[in-house]
Amino acid sequence: MQLSYLNEPSVLYNIQCRYNQDMIYTKAGPVLVAINPFKKVSLYGNDYIEAYKLKSIESPHVYAITDTAIREMVRDEVNQSIIISGESGAGKTETAKIAMQYLAALGGGSGIEYEILKTNPILEAFGNAKTLRNDNSSRFGKLIEIHFSETGKISGANIQTFLLEKSRVVQCTEGERSYHIFYQLCAGVPTDLREKLNLRSADEYKYLRQSNCYSITGVNDAEQFRIVVEALDVVHISKEDQQSVFAMLAAVLWLGNISFTVIDNENHVEAVTDEGLFNVAKLVGCDIEELKLALSTRTMRVGNDNIVQKLTLSQAIDTRDALAKSIYACLFEWLVEQINKSLAVGKRRTGRSISILDIYGFESFDRNSFEQFCINYANERLQQHFNRHLFKLEQEEYIQDGIDWTKVDFEDNQDCLSLFEKKPLGLLSLLDEESTFPNGTDLTFANKLKQHLNSNSCFRGERGKAFSVCHYAGEVTYDTTGFLEKNRDLLHLDSIQLLSSCSCRLPQIFASSMLAQSEKPVAGPLYKAGGADSQKLSVATKFKGQLFLLMQRLESTTPHFIRCIKPNNLQSPKLYEQGLVLQQLRCCGVLEVVRISRSGFPTRMSHQKFARRYGFLLLENVAYQDPLSVSVAILHQFNILPEMYQVGYTKLFFRTGQIGVLEDTRNRT
Ligand code: ATP
Ligand code: MG
Repeated sequence: MQLSYLNEPSVLYNIQCRYNQDMIYTKAGPVLVAINPFKKVSLYGNDYIEAYKLKSIESPHVYAITDTAIREMVRDEVNQSIIISGESGAGKTETAKIAMQYLAALGGGSGIEYEILKTNPILEAFGNAKTLRNDNSSRFGKLIEIHFSETGKISGANIQTFLLEKSRVVQCTEGERSYHIFYQLCAGVPTDLREKLNLRSADEYKYLRQSNCYSITGVNDAEQFRIVVEALDVVHISKEDQQSVFAMLAAVLWLGNISFTVIDNENHVEAVTDEGLFNVAKLVGCDIEELKLALSTRTMRVGNDNIVQKLTLSQAIDTRDALAKSIYACLFEWLVEQINKSLAVGKRRTGRSISILDIYGFESFDRNSFEQFCINYANERLQQHFNRHLFKLEQEEYIQDGIDWTKVDFEDNQDCLSLFEKKPLGLLSLLDEESTFPNGTDLTFANKLKQHLNSNSCFRGERGKAFSVCHYAGEVTYDTTGFLEKNRDLLHLDSIQLLSSCSCRLPQIFASSMLAQSEKPVAGPLYKAGGADSQKLSVATKFKGQLFLLMQRLESTTPHFIRCIKPNNLQSPKLYEQGLVLQQLRCCGVLEVVRISRSGFPTRMSHQKFARRYGFLLLENVAYQDPLSVSVAILHQFNILPEMYQVGYTKLFFRTGQIGVLEDTRNRT
């Protein structure tokens, strides 16, 4: 179903009608709209794949858009991207998997496609968690680039991940869970390994206990664990490495159980020598006393001397949690690196690829923190890319070719992006600046924002430590509590040294990657708060750099957009809330795309190509004429109404569906 000729109410009506018949996909101009069915729909599998491949089905589908991407990659010799967006729970990750399925089916053969598909259960186990919005919410962004050989076969792949939400490891809201892998491990680990790792059930670990939620309806964690292990085997992670991975997970869990006791009248604390401390030391392979010291003290470098400072309870807890978060984040990165080694492209690279982007959608909660701040910033960048391709470049082409065109306005989000990126007085710069001040606090940061940005139309200072940003998708109020600490993301040098002293391999690798990160001479603000702490790039700056590279990569591809929409907030297969759907369609620009496709001329062809392609259908002989005259003669002969096309300097522009008649006639003759 093409929605190009429809206005807003009929777009909505159509989407809903189709949804009621389990037709969850609809085309809005060039954009594929996918409504989450929250149930199994019979639209997938080999028969469907075959049908889309042979083009015996024309109905909009992820398969169809993926098919177009493959064809355009081969035809134009240009890399392609499939950009999937939508709110949490809208179906991005499922959609990405459906696209991968199609690619694997069409480009498979070497066996590497099987490995590529198996990265999904692994990354979901380590990077997804149950949240209040989605039982399987991705807490990281992902770009998977799938490489093809000259013959159109998959030759390898590469995965890039963005900003894993590591705070979840040590802290999560009531009713949500930490990362799936923890529960899977506790439920599914075989007995011998369980003993070796001293593993208990999930409810014995403080990090998992705090949110009071252990299971997900319809999910068997023990069974999932077996699936993950099988997948790890497929991507060539050795059994020995797998054991090390599980040991690190167990160490993180036991870290959370370490408690502290006050040792003097200045409220300094010391880690209690109990089961928790003992197990962590054993699992990472370090000395118990050294672990105790690393968690209870901090070495400061003053001049040429090292001064050992004792920690208070809250400092000690922060140190412990920072260590747990770092181990987990390093483990995640290390895993992705191992997977990439396994998927690495063969020697003969053609450089043709299709990338699939599944990145966290816009988030607006009752309370929004640093994570939402970064996620929403990323979405502003992506929205700009979307606008550029579907509105700006499209209209520029009309104007360049001199056709009669009244400009269609679209929500340009440049102002909001500038609010984030402007130097020195933008949100990111001010955040970094405040993060470098030893005395900077969340409150001084918030005040600085209000002082410098109040005149910006996308910014509003709120009471206390809060501020609001007018995003393309709506206004969001951020609470700056924790912003500076999360942005600095410091790990004490004592902790890094502890890891590097470990006898186990993974902690050593983690320590050297942490050191490498902090020692690299990099542009941008570096943190050297508190003397002996490591210097490193701020989280926001690093993320901004990643996003720039991502945008650069996407700009060199032909984009295909999929907008996922959730019909309700309850993950229910029965409920279709019109208002909610409308709001999502509106804020992601789909309705404007429909508007422009309706009034615009989405099909175009150069005069030469048009004359060559259809010239032979002419009844009169016009072979001696120039391409433009031939083209005009064809248009007349086929009674194509003047309002249905425009003649540009180099191209003919058509409204949707107009050259169908010509194509049909051409195919019949
Ligand atoms: P997040 O941003 O939180 O990661 P998401 O957009 O990736 O969310 P998904 O995890 O893909 O959302 O989808 C949420 C749930 O919706 C899935 O676990 C699945 O139950 C259901 N779902 C999504 N798409 C489909 C589909 N095409 N068919 C059946 N169920 C689906
Ligand atoms: Mg997801």
